Amino acid sequence: MDGTTLTVCAYTLGCKVNVYDTEKMMEQFKLAGFAKVPETERGADVYVVNTCSVTAMADKKSRQAIRRAKRENPQAVIVVCGCFAQLSPQQALDIGADLVIGRDDKERAAELTLEFIGERRPRDYAPVAEEAQKDLAPAQKDLAPAQEDLAPGDRTRAYVKIQDGCDNYCAYCVIPYARGRARSRPISGIVDEVRGLAERGYKEIVLTGIHVASYGKDLSDGDLQTLLPLAAGVDGIERVRFSSVEPLLITEEFCETLSRLPNICDHFHLSLQSGCDATLTRMRRRYNTSQYREAVERLREAYPDAGITTDIIVGFPGETDEEFEQSRSFAQSMDFLKIHVFPFSPKKGTAAALMPQRVIDGVKKARADRLLRLSESLGLAFKTKYIGKHLKVLFEDEVTPGVFAGYSTNYINVRACSPVCDPRGRIGIARPTDVFTNYVKADILRL
Ligand code: SF4
Repeated sequence: MDGTTLTVCAYTLGCKVNVYDTEKMMEQFKLAGFAKVPETERGADVYVVNTCSVTAMADKKSRQAIRRAKRENPQAVIVVCGCFAQLSPQQALDIGADLVIGRDDKERAAELTLEFIGERRPRDYAPVAEEAQKDLAPAQKDLAPAQEDLAPGDRTRAYVKIQDGCDNYCAYCVIPYARGRARSRPISGIVDEVRGLAERGYKEIVLTGIHVASYGKDLSDGDLQTLLPLAAGVDGIERVRFSSVEPLLITEEFCETLSRLPNICDHFHLSLQSGCDATLTRMRRRYNTSQYREAVERLREAYPDAGITTDIIVGFPGETDEEFEQSRSFAQSMDFLKIHVFPFSPKKGTAAALMPQRVIDGVKKARADRLLRLSESLGLAFKTKYIGKHLKVLFEDEVTPGVFAGYSTNYINVRACSPVCDPRGRIGIARPTDVFTNYVKADILRL
């Protein structure tokens, strides 16, 4: 650090809320005078690692990312935040972090980093895990509205965090301990942020949160059904998605609200976790398979082309072969567009970590493989239905010269040639011609 402009880069693991949080931190760094550089470019003065702790694998990847950041950028100040850092701050410091930033200090990340650079000594702003479990008071301050004058990225789709935290305490999940209680951003702040994004040319917003369904429970001036028409009604916003929804949120009234809004995308990520009621009860999920099925039916009634994606855990403690079969066959009957499969990994501090009847790794792997094969075949079947039909696609990336990719409203990844004009940032009509595991090939009919 030689007195010239300081540079900062970031590496993000985990969910869309983390992506959003990283973008907001980068805005702070820019306002503080830092220049943002790509994470792949060595030599940044500050390297932010925003970690995840949702599974044992996420912990491992978080540790690897911290070690790699330190190894490849020995001169940089390594700033670590996110769920892994919140739950294991000392470990983060031991393996390479210079500064750990806790969940309530993320909005001061740049300020704390500058203080650190001034003093140059290891510090830890995160409460230790045990304290985090006790201290679950709502922390409105980390939900401050976004900076109005900076775009949170250079993409056509922007994430908008509407809430953080979760009160559900599913038996396997460590997130409520890391993120704290569910707390909602005020409606006015969210709508202002969406307006700002529309002014900067964003066409699609993704309403994001740790537990979107609990949005508004701590507000006096409305809930998700109040927020949606206001956010979706902002001029210039052509598409609105949810990062995820919950089965119990999908009431008839909720579907009616959605149906009145022409720009809600017909893609819904509806976490299932298991298609077996006994397993769901042990997981402490708050719905059963009939309620889940009802939610899917309601969504498909309102949106006949709805692409429904989900998460399923395999090998939860006590999951017998029979329970897994029930789960698999329920998933098959849901015609998902995609299943994200997670082999169970015990997380210290959760109820499931103490449960008996652990499923051995080989069985978990075999179950995961079967579900992944099911996901692939369901996805292919779903996409095949659109051969020769028309999909509305927002093009975002150029994957190879002249070939552009984007998502349809129902979340089919579409790739199409456009040798003459660059369709990025535009919504076009595309006609699928061929189906592949991860995308469909299509012709652009018009832009
Ligand atoms: S709903 Fe359950 S799985 Fe989702 S964040 Fe909350 S505790 Fe975790």
